[in-house]
Amino acid sequence: MLISEIFHSLQGEGELTGVPSVFVRTSGCNLRCNWCDTPYASWQPEGENLEIAEIVRRVRSYPSKHVVLTGGEPMIAPDIHELAFQLKELGCHLTIETAATVRPRGIACDLASLSPKLAHSAPDERLDDAWRRKHESLRRQPEVIADWIAAGDYQLKFVVSSESDVAEIEELLRDTLCVVPPHKVLLMPEGTTLEGLRARAGWLSELCKARGYRYAHRLHVELYGNRRGT
Ligand code: SF4
Repeated sequence: MLISEIFHSLQGEGELTGVPSVFVRTSGCNLRCNWCDTPYASWQPEGENLEIAEIVRRVRSYPSKHVVLTGGEPMIAPDIHELAFQLKELGCHLTIETAATVRPRGIACDLASLSPKLAHSAPDERLDDAWRRKHESLRRQPEVIADWIAAGDYQLKFVVSSESDVAEIEELLRDTLCVVPPHKVLLMPEGTTLEGLRARAGWLSELCKARGYRYAHRLHVELYGNRRGT
């Protein structure tokens, strides 16, 4: 399995923010978000080819029992089901961070962190038309989101760029045909710097108060800046 990095840090996003966790970042993604903050696992995938046993060995070398499978898109990594199974057998708490474009198909998971991509993620002219069409055709799959919601605990995490994104989010939620409590919807300001996050924090926090959604900070940007291995 192509692995871009395995590291120990604090979970920076979502319901488990601040929990010490081991991150296993698979390399490779079926999308090409324009503002992707891990291009080394998507636009230019790089990493080491590791056997599952070696991944598990490295995970066990850290003290945390919380493990996050992230990417890129971990759900397109071959053997991801077997890796998740083996980590659960070890007694790990498993979060899977996915753009929810691939069905769970029974994968072992304690928290599905679903991050569907909105229209503003569309890649620009750096990519050819074929990739831009692929991104657009895959990024929005309400029936796949519904599958994940039915499978177990979840959070729906959206990168929000402007106030108009909220109408798109609410339309997507309606299209899942699921009852999603507002506190399961996390809105995260787009930005990879503290200044960028703060520029959107004012109106986004007010919007969360008005609608009951959860405002989601990016602790790792606050603590470490936008750096690899954090
Ligand atoms: S889905 Fe995630 S990893 Fe893939 S391109 Fe988008 S932001 Fe990057």
